[in-house]
Amino acid sequence: MVDAVVVGAGPNGLAAAVTLARAGLSVEVVERNDTIGGGARTAELTLPGFRHDVCSAVHPMALQSEFFRRFRLDERIDLRLPEVQYGHPLDGGRAGIAHQDLDRTAAELGVDGPAFRTLMAPLSRNADQVSDFATNALLNVPRHPLTVLRFGLRALEQGSGAWNARFRDEVAPAMLTGVAAHSIQHMPSLATAAAALSLGSYAHARGWPVPIGGSQAIVDALAADLVAHGGRIVTGQEVRSLGDITPAKAVLFDTSVPGMLRIAGSQIPTPRRGALRRFRFGNAAAKVDFALSEPVPWTHEDLRRAGTVHLGGTRAEIAAAEGAVARGRHAERPYVLGSEPTVVDPSRAPDGRHVFWAYAHVPAGSDVDHTEAVTRQIERFAPGFRDTILATSSRTAVEMAAYNLNYVGGDIASGAASFWQLVKRPLLSNDPWRMGGGMYLCSEAAAPGPGVHGMAGWRAAKSALRHTFGLPDDVDLAPED
Ligand SMILES: Cc1cc2nc3c(=O)[nH]c(=O)nc-3n(C[C@H](O)[C@H](O)[C@H](O)COP(=O)(O)OP(=O)(O)OC[C@H]3O[C@@H](n4cnc5c(N)ncnc54)[C@H](O)[C@@H]3O)c2cc1C
Repeated sequence: MVDAVVVGAGPNGLAAAVTLARAGLSVEVVERNDTIGGGARTAELTLPGFRHDVCSAVHPMALQSEFFRRFRLDERIDLRLPEVQYGHPLDGGRAGIAHQDLDRTAAELGVDGPAFRTLMAPLSRNADQVSDFATNALLNVPRHPLTVLRFGLRALEQGSGAWNARFRDEVAPAMLTGVAAHSIQHMPSLATAAAALSLGSYAHARGWPVPIGGSQAIVDALAADLVAHGGRIVTGQEVRSLGDITPAKAVLFDTSVPGMLRIAGSQIPTPRRGALRRFRFGNAAAKVDFALSEPVPWTHEDLRRAGTVHLGGTRAEIAAAEGAVARGRHAERPYVLGSEPTVVDPSRAPDGRHVFWAYAHVPAGSDVDHTEAVTRQIERFAPGFRDTILATSSRTAVEMAAYNLNYVGGDIASGAASFWQLVKRPLLSNDPWRMGGGMYLCSEAAAPGPGVHGMAGWRAAKSALRHTFGLPDDVDLAPED
């Protein structure tokens, strides 16, 4: 018998396990894959010596989330900011360049600079308050109502047909759309606006860092802390029923909603079970990784210093591509999220070589290989890119789902990130992590949703400490010297 078992060793599962172990409980983590990390693994996918992030690559939330700030992740691993936080090329050699410095970003946006600045400044100045609201259960009373009001008014504008009203040129709206599209939804919508405003404001606050060594460094730091506090991790074991795990007072699921229901549905009270069955999945991602002989030859020089690039062209073009995916079709020129971590982390590739990480948005259940479609989108803004490719590795949406059971149909958010499903994730409750019967959902399928932030795990563990163990939930997470 142990106090708690965590099913799944993704960033949220490990964040939950660390919190419980630091409260003095005995904790066991059981992971299906042979290695820990879930959506934060780094591996040699193409050629020897080229280390690719299999899923997540860029980590604004590693600096921004309350869990990681308390855990002081930035003191445990090297989170490096690129000179350019994100870039957004357009045809003809123009590009939107997001510097950490908002004033500089706005100054380079010409006629739309003041409008972009007015939109983002009150949020980036209060980015910790934005993330406090955006990474909590949305039914909780906000701690910073003025910031939430400012955020809400801007979301109503950027999430509606009025989204172009303040702009006169193409670059600033394209930049916002590139960030909005992270949520894989039709646009404009409240969900895409919320992504643009939250992630966009973090770029001008703590920034969008890349971990030296890859995303694996984040989960390795969590695992090291867990083991140092007596926790145990078992890998290579899929949990199919409660009979597969050591008996425990609390079980925390870093799984999908249906995954949890399959394992422990009978323990969860009937009304909640019914609501959980109505939880919906969204569209998907097809991944492509490249080993390169040299850096990506972007036409716009500043993109050569960017950690992240958003490829898809103008606001109208990206909205059309995302609209096609929302209707279940493949876009001819899909939206592509890309990152060249070797811009700040040469350790990812042999001397002088580079890696490029990318994924395209596709309909759920797609089995279409996107190597060519992604290559074309990069080549469009970086002529000659094709000649730098040494090797590629690709995973279709169907293969993503097989790689990680949480990505049902290839949905990398483990549940559509629509506005309604962000409010009730997965239940309409101010404690949506607590399922009843000693069961807790601690994955990205619970509030606050996708991202490497550890917040779902931390909140689920806090709920378990209060409700199952009757313990205080204010656990110290800082490193002990
Ligand atoms: C291609 C891609 C790109 C992304 N890019 C970014 C990014 O740049 N920045 C960012 O912040 N986020 C990004 N994300 C999202 C981020 O990776 C996820 O939101 C995050 O990993 C969710 O963490 P989690 O712990 O909830 O779940 P996961 O990381 O998915 O971990 C869940 C773990 O549970 C295990 N598991 C599931 N079921 C069982 C079972 N029955 N038995 C045992 N083990 C089980 C799985 O094997 C997995 O290891 C990306 C995701 C993908 C797929």
